[in-house]
Amino acid sequence: MRDLKEVKGIGVNTIRDFNNLGIYNTADLLGYYPFRYEVLEKTDMNNVIDGDKVIIDGICENVPNVYYISRKLNKMSFRINTGTKIMNVVIFNRAFLKNNLFMGKEVTVIGKYDMKHNTITASDIKFGLLNETVIEPIYHSSSKLNSKKINKVINTVIGKENVLDYIPDPLNERYHFMDKNRAVYLVHNPFDMKMVDEAMRKLRYEELFLFMLKMNYLKSNNTKSDGLKRDVDYSLVEDFINNLSFNLTDDQLKSVKDIYKDLTWPKRMNRLLQGDVGSGKTIVSFIALYINYLGGYQGALMAPTEILAIQHYNNIKSILPNLNVALLTGKMKAKDRREILEKIGNGEIDIIIGTHALISDDVIYKNLGLVITDEQHRFGVNQRGNLKNKGITPDILYMSATPIPRTYALTLYGDMDISSIRTMPSGRKPVKTILKSNKEIKDVLYMMLDEIKKGHQIYVIAPLVEESESMDMENVYELEEKMNKAFGKVAQVGVLHGKMKANEKDEIMDKFKNGETQILISTTVIEVGVDVANATMIVIFDSYRFGLSALHQLRGRVGRNDLDSYCVLISDKETKRLDVLTKTNDGFKVSEEDFLLRGSGDLFGFRQSGDMNFKVADIKRDYDLMLMAKEDSERFLNSADYTSDKYKHICDVIEKAVNLD
Ligand code: ADP
Ligand code: MG
Repeated sequence: MRDLKEVKGIGVNTIRDFNNLGIYNTADLLGYYPFRYEVLEKTDMNNVIDGDKVIIDGICENVPNVYYISRKLNKMSFRINTGTKIMNVVIFNRAFLKNNLFMGKEVTVIGKYDMKHNTITASDIKFGLLNETVIEPIYHSSSKLNSKKINKVINTVIGKENVLDYIPDPLNERYHFMDKNRAVYLVHNPFDMKMVDEAMRKLRYEELFLFMLKMNYLKSNNTKSDGLKRDVDYSLVEDFINNLSFNLTDDQLKSVKDIYKDLTWPKRMNRLLQGDVGSGKTIVSFIALYINYLGGYQGALMAPTEILAIQHYNNIKSILPNLNVALLTGKMKAKDRREILEKIGNGEIDIIIGTHALISDDVIYKNLGLVITDEQHRFGVNQRGNLKNKGITPDILYMSATPIPRTYALTLYGDMDISSIRTMPSGRKPVKTILKSNKEIKDVLYMMLDEIKKGHQIYVIAPLVEESESMDMENVYELEEKMNKAFGKVAQVGVLHGKMKANEKDEIMDKFKNGETQILISTTVIEVGVDVANATMIVIFDSYRFGLSALHQLRGRVGRNDLDSYCVLISDKETKRLDVLTKTNDGFKVSEEDFLLRGSGDLFGFRQSGDMNFKVADIKRDYDLMLMAKEDSERFLNSADYTSDKYKHICDVIEKAVNLD
């Protein structure tokens, strides 16, 4: 492997352009695989219709004509003889090719066929006949480097460097993978798509194998006995559970037991608690904090928004009145904050609830034993990393209301244990979901009126805060006006959005909670976790703007008691996609559908994005390869091979990747 600077024939400017693509050395360069291929195959002119894209070759019949239409626009035309007929070719802004085009010159023309005028409007002209299929590799390019240039530079080093193969020999043999050098050569110099596919299969598996190896490595690291061990009598936990005003569901109980086991064993907990909105994750997290407290440690619960932090704070204080609980948010007065920080530092405070202010640099814990993040997808990896930087290794529980289909969860969360809450607390009625067009808004207003008359409350969601010139969508202020017009006499309307100050938000939220306002208009700030049992209806304007999982979460704001409740999706677009929600209330099914419709990118967006940025693999398309890689990497990690000199390069890349996180 050489630095680009050491490669002959690449200028400083080109090196900088490559650096901008994240390419610094020859290994990066050779590993910069094309993301697709353009296959140029001669078109059978007997089978084309007007407007088709065609590729044909022939012999130039005349001296091209060039017209300069303006300074920036020129048009060249000439005729070619294809062997069966003569055709006209027109191409713009290639006047510079004129001298290369003369009678008798062999050319290949790519363009659009105009049948009536027997003319091809060309997008490209290549010299020479197209005797065979030409395959062009297409790379992620930049304004400075196009695919051709990238390929040219790659080919100056290809074959002169030995590329490392990260697949152990026995696996290469078992799957009959081709040699890595050959695979790399083929993907950059494709001459046959079958061969390219075979080469890609190896490279995809290699990428998945390394990814899974990393996951398994992390997991085995976590299970080493560097975690905290607590002595906690389970009967104390049982007493607490028996004193709750409701019975835990089976899945809640199972989750509590999973967590109890983790916390009382010397292995470090790294657990994901997943369950639909309203499935009751919060109480499980409180019990986790209680177990941690009984074990003698401080605990922290991080919420994604201030509203939620405050809600959790009030909740936990009423459920665990004897513990010292503090609230820490970013917008506190300096004096209050200092006071709380002091108490956190000297251990006076048992449980801290807050936003990501909890992990800012000045928060020094006395003995932090457990960190819980609610709706973890809202936290960036850096924020989580902060905790490690402080030299503490607390147990970690992530909570997510975006359920992942089980098979995917098992592979993607290879580094975590998972507890799932699949059933809703009893007494819940499923939310009835209705899809309406903007024309049917009157029906919706009548439905709303019905709910208001029953003394119930309603959320109204708009995608925007203010009017936008570029987007024709509902905004909260416009809706406020409309709602006041419709319901001014019978209901109070509140407005909430993310740009408001914290105390404003609290005030508005309080008014809705205690029933002073009946209609709450909001952007998605209420998306996560807010709990008002008397709200029985949610109306979502321009709902096509949201992903299915996000809509499912919003829907979870209602149906929190035994009353009939409704979710009304208003949209004129993408009604087929939205229709999924009218058919199922099961978050696991919704996420599966999201996955099928939108691919993995969105669904797994809440995982640190870098983790899922595969170069050539795609977990949906290559799912079978991924399952293979999962098993193989597990076996490899536990074998003597892993630590042998022969595979040191594999070991190195894993440890480096893991330490960077
Ligand atoms: P989420 O999983 O979305 O965080 P919550 O924890 O907010 O759900 O629970 C929603 C509501 O259900 C809360 O009001 C909570 O007190 C209540 N709840 C939780 N578990 C049960 C249960 N086992 N039986 C009845 N109600 C429950
Ligand atoms: Mg919650």
